[in-house]
Amino acid sequence: MQCGLLGEKLGHSYSPQIHAKLGCYRYCLYEKSPSELEHFIRNGDYRGLNVTIPYKKTVLPYCDALSPEASRLGAVNTLVRMSDGSLYGHNTDYFGFQSMAQRLNINYSGKKVLVLGSGGAATTVRAVMEEQGANVVTVSRSGENNYKNLDLHKNCAVIVNATPVGMYPNNGMSPVNLSIFPNLEAVMDLIYNPAKTKLLLDAESMGLKTENGLWMLVAQAYESAKYFTRSFIDEALIPHIHRELKREMENIILIGMPGCGKSTNGRLLAKALNKQFVDADEKIVELTGCSIPEIFQLHGEEYFRKLETQALTDICKGSGQVIATGGGCVTRPENIPLLHQNGTVIWIRRPVEQLPTAGRPLSQANDMNRMYEVRMPLYQRCAHYTIDCGPSPEETVKRLITLLDEVE
Ligand code: NAP
Repeated sequence: MQCGLLGEKLGHSYSPQIHAKLGCYRYCLYEKSPSELEHFIRNGDYRGLNVTIPYKKTVLPYCDALSPEASRLGAVNTLVRMSDGSLYGHNTDYFGFQSMAQRLNINYSGKKVLVLGSGGAATTVRAVMEEQGANVVTVSRSGENNYKNLDLHKNCAVIVNATPVGMYPNNGMSPVNLSIFPNLEAVMDLIYNPAKTKLLLDAESMGLKTENGLWMLVAQAYESAKYFTRSFIDEALIPHIHRELKREMENIILIGMPGCGKSTNGRLLAKALNKQFVDADEKIVELTGCSIPEIFQLHGEEYFRKLETQALTDICKGSGQVIATGGGCVTRPENIPLLHQNGTVIWIRRPVEQLPTAGRPLSQANDMNRMYEVRMPLYQRCAHYTIDCGPSPEETVKRLITLLDEVE
């Protein structure tokens, strides 16, 4: 049986990976231009298709029947060829968002929900939230409710971002400033790359409930797979696939004092986890053509820190990596969200007297005990987890892997 994803430009898609875990069918990527679309839909060799930007509305006229959700939303993201050859259009984004919103365990009834954006995904969010009894306000750049009069909705309880603002490669952008909403309980972002947009990082720092779009992506695929295969698929696959995908996509970021073993252990850990290893200091050397001691000698620490932030901006946008950072990266507050957007940050603690100093200009020029005193609270604040460096790199990596297995 052949299924796949139909869109104009697909780039990197997680859908083949997700569908491979959902059932025994081939899942291909079909990039079609508008002029190729009709011929492909009518004659293509497929049992089922997921449909993405910009064709979710375009495929409507080719459907012989629509599910209630597809009909209500005026958009189809799943096409199924029935045994008589007719085409049935579903909208499984509806189920996907419903399932995502449920994860937050909030009673939406009577609450004001701001939906940012007025595109296809926003329409789905609006429909689901209205069904839950929420009072939904759509915020659109050109609408009656827009980004200039957000204070009309200071009393909102939930915000859902259904715009592409903050999505890779434009990480670090946020559509709204959350500080003007004192009653806010939760923020959802349909974006899943980065795992935590600036909007979600801001919400997290305010102690709010948050959820990104990865769960929705997996849940809509699960619902599509049921239609493709016309068979029961255990819903427990959703959390299972979500967890696996999250683990594959996340960066593991090692922080700690110079010489604590970030690079040595990072290399071994990357191999064990089948992730790519990246050393932030090596990136800076590549970028400048100078060694780290040379950069310090010629331009000083402040210049080095700027280069480091530049390097982390690029590196941390990527996913599925083990990243060894420079010991002082935590001293610049702007580096913290860069590390956190896609990463689980682990502090490797090692006694100061065991830290090597050869080839490390800052370690040689400073009292290491004093440096540790200053940095310790910064490592503590930045790290999600802490481990003590083991007697050998193999033992430290074992500790890291055990830790990662234990945490969600
Ligand atoms: P879309 O139809 O292109 O709509 C996006 C909307 O965002 C536009 O209608 C626009 O609304 C607003 N927008 C666009 N650029 C903006 C900007 N620079 N600043 C502020 N607002 C802007 O796209 P969509 O299909 O609805 O998707 C929206 C987002 O949801 C995307 O990031 C997509 O990846 C994500 N998504 C995720 C899933 C999932 O499974 N997790 C599923 C579907 C979509 P106004 O013109 O009214 O402001």
